Amino acid sequence: MKRKLIILGAGESGIGAAILGKQKNFEVFVSDKGKISKKNKEVLLHHKIEWEENQHTEEKILVADLVVKSPGIPDTVAIVKKLKGKEIQVISEIEFAAKFTTAKIIAVTGSNGKTTVVNWIALMLEKANLKYCLAGNVGFSFAEKVATENPDYFILEISSFQLDGIVSFHPDISVITNITPDHLDRYDDDFQKYINSKFKITENQTAKDFLIYDADDEVITKEIEKREIKAKKIPFSFKNVKGWKTEISNNKMTTILKDRTFSIPTEKVGLDGEHNAKNAMAASTVANLLKIRKQTIRESLECFHGVEHRLEKVIKIKNVEYINDSKATNINSTFYALKTVKPKIVWIVGGVDKGNDYSELLPLVNEKVKAIICLGIDNSRIIQSFDKCIEVIEEAHSMEEAVKMSYQIAEEGDTVLLSPACASFDLFKDYKDRGNQFKEAVKSL
Ligand code: ADP
Repeated sequence: MKRKLIILGAGESGIGAAILGKQKNFEVFVSDKGKISKKNKEVLLHHKIEWEENQHTEEKILVADLVVKSPGIPDTVAIVKKLKGKEIQVISEIEFAAKFTTAKIIAVTGSNGKTTVVNWIALMLEKANLKYCLAGNVGFSFAEKVATENPDYFILEISSFQLDGIVSFHPDISVITNITPDHLDRYDDDFQKYINSKFKITENQTAKDFLIYDADDEVITKEIEKREIKAKKIPFSFKNVKGWKTEISNNKMTTILKDRTFSIPTEKVGLDGEHNAKNAMAASTVANLLKIRKQTIRESLECFHGVEHRLEKVIKIKNVEYINDSKATNINSTFYALKTVKPKIVWIVGGVDKGNDYSELLPLVNEKVKAIICLGIDNSRIIQSFDKCIEVIEEAHSMEEAVKMSYQIAEEGDTVLLSPACASFDLFKDYKDRGNQFKEAVKSL
């Protein structure tokens, strides 16, 4: 008899898992408590996969042999509790997909920088003519790629929610970019639970595998001291660290591994900012581990121009630079934006605040920001945090209005920076919609 695979949540990862499950001869049923998009319904129909929307029918779900749960669904919802009560295994899409591939897995997690790092690694493998596939949170379902492609390497961007649902998932190379408070609403406001989740990336790694991490991040280093990690640890740092490593000192980035030394002057690295220097170190360490030609790594470090919506330079108008950093959805990413961008800054900020502590930004705001434009439904916490140090704080109700205000305020040599430090769901579909609206508004000034 066919094994019953139930998929909870018909988003990108759920649909991918359904396709892979069908291919691997499971009897598949997809259930979504909300509406399923027209596009995804067509995909399900095409693959002859059964589904339901706006409900979870218990009789159909509690008979599962295996359940793949979308990372968007918390463990606390009734149906998941019931499944666990019946001891039915509930896993994430990456756990499911990894069972069906023998490709090497490079997995990147962290609070910020994941998309940038996976894309940078992908460029290196591309230039080295290696057969790779980019998947995970970056937008393409890992499971669907396992069903439809056969690469030698998977480069995966992985969120903490995906890691929560793993059992034996085991990357050959894992990267933790940094850990700062984010998504704490899903972790009972307990930072340690979020940290534990991130560290699951290395839980099943063995001595043959590698863990690359930021050694300047105290949260990570403390955690590493506490844990018994089996993978070979490779730190990256702005300081001098021992052993295999990548470090930046005296304006040079150097990777030292067992039988390889690689270096490049930091001024040649394509992206600006301290945070991107970190991302470059992470990507370069991976490429060196894969023994990609040094010249290829150098070229890839030089020519990478970043990913859309991440400190993306849009246009200069009357010598004012407009920068789209819509993907900055937490304090840490905005911290680096304010650190990297040149003053004076007209800063567009706000949205859905996940419990931000804006005081961390105060020194930078004091030093570099000349005006704040709040773009959210509730801006009270932003105004409270900054009204003592910034004279001009305005509130806008749409992106168009925010951009017009910034145009009025900015003077020659200034920068207008959209770096919201918040999620986008109050006024926009998602961060991409927010960034695109910004770019459109700027271009029609
Ligand atoms: P993620 O995929 O983890 O969300 P992104 O690469 O999409 O990370 O970047 C998200 C935001 O964080 C952007 O605003 C970007 O400029 C900023 N950022 C990128 N790398 C880092 C880093 N290493 N540390 C802090 N912020 C970063």
